Amino acid sequence: METGDRGASSSSPGNFSAESFTALCFGPGLRPEGERIAARLDEEGVCLWPGGAREQRVPYRALQVAAGGFDHEQMILSWNPGGEQWSLTLSDKPAKDFLLAHAPPALEPQLTPWKKKIRAGRHRMRLGWTVLALFLLAPFLLLAVFLWQTDRIVDWAASRISVQNEQKLGELIFEQAKPSLKLITEGEAPRVIEQIGGKLTAGTPYAFKWHVADDPAINAFAIPGGHVVVFTGLIKAADSAEEVAGVLAHEAEHVLQRHSLKAMIHNLGWRAAIAVAAGDWTGGLAGELAAQMGILKFGRDKESEADLKGLDLLRKARIAPGGMVSFFDKLAKQGGAPIALLSTHPASADRMAALRVAIAKNGSWQSQPLPYDWASVKATLPAK
Ligand SMILES: [Zn+2]
Repeated sequence: METGDRGASSSSPGNFSAESFTALCFGPGLRPEGERIAARLDEEGVCLWPGGAREQRVPYRALQVAAGGFDHEQMILSWNPGGEQWSLTLSDKPAKDFLLAHAPPALEPQLTPWKKKIRAGRHRMRLGWTVLALFLLAPFLLLAVFLWQTDRIVDWAASRISVQNEQKLGELIFEQAKPSLKLITEGEAPRVIEQIGGKLTAGTPYAFKWHVADDPAINAFAIPGGHVVVFTGLIKAADSAEEVAGVLAHEAEHVLQRHSLKAMIHNLGWRAAIAVAAGDWTGGLAGELAAQMGILKFGRDKESEADLKGLDLLRKARIAPGGMVSFFDKLAKQGGAPIALLSTHPASADRMAALRVAIAKNGSWQSQPLPYDWASVKATLPAK
């Protein structure tokens, strides 16, 4: 290495003698982690430790300039006097700016490739950040897609669930819902409901389970997998077994068409879609789902589908279809307190009209009256 004396340094002030910069220096006799030293540019080279006892000058022609560091933003000046490895690492912006601003023409050939590399490195980093940002944003993008394509995603999630798994989920939900239901297990009403329901759903892929709950609300609901709960209020509001059969057929189709399953997935969003698709119902999901039962609302198209397909169930079971229309009609005409069944299964004029048309078209099947005296079935229910 060349070692200039102090006089040589101060004799060539140029544009840069007044300013020095600091950099991390590596070399023989220095600490292995490098030593931060002052340096100065003069016309002949880089002056290290200017003004100090160790002052030395490295001529520009002996320097190699490379880009270093994780982001290639570091500037590394290196030189090899007599086979020794020396280098100066400039990582802070002021030092690099200083060097770029004050570099003499002699250093330009080494600096040009470094500048190019830095630009390419910056481009790569930007690309890297873009990819990283996309990766971090992915959940939000998925959420946006979810909100935008909800129905398709819900259908997809539902399609991943076997009937068997749906029934397992239904069991869990029913167990969660049970403590808040006053189930009537003995007597005429549960037996009749089970007989009508069984008749309607014979031969379907689901093992339906029919229940009667002591509750004055005119309501019924279907849990995914086939538990159907009918409230005593509904049994009392009906004037015939056929009217109840119409409601049961409608509810059964909400199960068969997986409307209940899809509505629950829709309401709980991603978490349910993922859990349900993975067959993992743990983590309180069943409880949350149970809390939704009885208040799940379906869209108008789902209601119409349940009506029309329910009509098929009635036809196959040879049950007269008139009860389905008359019961919803009767409820719709009733004033006063809102009827739970109608708030969850809105009986629009369109829906009733479509039902009437469908019945007129193919509803004249050979029906057999259901063998129950409805007044006496109602008489077996708890008063109130
Ligand atoms: Zn409905």
